[in-house]
Amino acid sequence: IHHLVEDGRRAEDDFSDSLDLPAMARDTMGIQNEIIPNIRSAVLSRDLNRRVPTLTHAKGIYYHTFCGRSIVDACGGSAVACLGHGNARVTTAVSEQMGKVPYCHSQFFTTRASERLADAVIRSTDGKMSRLLTVSSGSEALEAALKIARQYFLELPEPQPQRRHFIGRAPSYHGATLSALEVGGHLSRRAMFEPMLASKTERVSLCNPYRGMRPGETSEEYVARLAYELDTAFSRFPPNSVCAFVAETVTGASTGTIPATDGYFVAMKRVCEKHGALLILDEVMCGIGRTGTMHAWQQEDVVPNIQVVGKAFGGGFVPVSGVLIDKQVDHAIEHGSGKISHGQSFQAHPSACAAALEVHNIILEEELLANVKAMGDRLAGTLQERIGSHPNVGDIRGRGLFWSVEFVRNKATRESLPRDWNVGYAFHEFAMQEPYNICVYPGNGTADGVVGDHTLIAPAYNVTAAEIDIIVDRLARAVTDFFEGLT
Ligand code: PLP
Repeated sequence: IHHLVEDGRRAEDDFSDSLDLPAMARDTMGIQNEIIPNIRSAVLSRDLNRRVPTLTHAKGIYYHTFCGRSIVDACGGSAVACLGHGNARVTTAVSEQMGKVPYCHSQFFTTRASERLADAVIRSTDGKMSRLLTVSSGSEALEAALKIARQYFLELPEPQPQRRHFIGRAPSYHGATLSALEVGGHLSRRAMFEPMLASKTERVSLCNPYRGMRPGETSEEYVARLAYELDTAFSRFPPNSVCAFVAETVTGASTGTIPATDGYFVAMKRVCEKHGALLILDEVMCGIGRTGTMHAWQQEDVVPNIQVVGKAFGGGFVPVSGVLIDKQVDHAIEHGSGKISHGQSFQAHPSACAAALEVHNIILEEELLANVKAMGDRLAGTLQERIGSHPNVGDIRGRGLFWSVEFVRNKATRESLPRDWNVGYAFHEFAMQEPYNICVYPGNGTADGVVGDHTLIAPAYNVTAAEIDIIVDRLARAVTDFFEGLT
């Protein structure tokens, strides 16, 4: 369908049809007044997106479509393309690796690329983590993390085979595979598969001050309440039967970027330790520099027992993800079976490791963490300036280059927009179109039984001030026009 559409029509037509506009309006797509009267009906009939554009190439923060449109990538896909699109150093590193050792099975061999990647990543944790397992996607890495947690308890000098449960949070997202869905609290992504899920997980509330804090409650009281809730969740299982508490250090896909309240993770880890369970931090979306430090936990005064990375790990150049384990877990496995019980054909794939290593080196050598902080401040400041007072903008939140705008119906009461409007997704489709041409990552809290429609912004770490201004300008115009047409 895409090819038929893109072959047969002019550039503007690949999106204008989806708004069900009269022919004249389609011909004058740049004139916003022609579009706005249709937004409400397009949103209500869920008719904003019937096709996605075909890309021909992508460079820096721009996607270029077959029809000649240039779309600003404000979110790196799903916070993946951390160096933007196209990087000569990564291309060279991957092609050189393919020329040296294109493939080997990690059970029989290792490569310099995988060894150097592990060294570099472990060094970036200041030695707090001890071993790296490299796989291909965030979901697989999360699966492996759950398995490693169980393996740890089986390989202790006094094994604890009764430990087989997990505690996650709701809402949350940890991946698309069955166990990742099971531990996650993303209701709509789970729904179809619910009967197949193992139901070995309890879920506690997310740390979401905008939605979760009670009037008059202090941060300390809020954290104490969440710690108590976690403690209570442990007690719903038989004693010593929970392997780990699983959480994103800064949330992403399910709720929009929410940094935890100060002291939250310290308190959560204390509860885990009380029950002899591990802390697994999922940094697939927020890790590897996204929040301004190489690891998001480095801003939380806490060290996880197991950590999962993905997305920015390979910058989107290759599919690659990783599981890091701390000394405690590594020691048990080292003195037990000696190896992590997780084997896949593409584990420690040489080209994937070469790409991830080069991405890692570029982040450090080009001092991109400093740019993430500086450009993150600019992004936050200009977002606040341009749309902070908009009546449908409830919350602007984030850290580093990981920001979200939560939309509401009523700013004062924080009432959400109607659930069936799917505003997070609808706004994404709207912003992708002329004249905005900006790709932001959608999130529909309300569609998930949780309040919080939002749009997520996660530009490349090497984004410039001028590019931040372009992103904010397009986003602000899209927000203004979208809500003018919708409400
Ligand atoms: N964990 C988190 C926090 C994520 O945001 C995602 C994907 O969005 C995953 C895990 C799954 O990663 P992948 O899509 O690479 O399998």
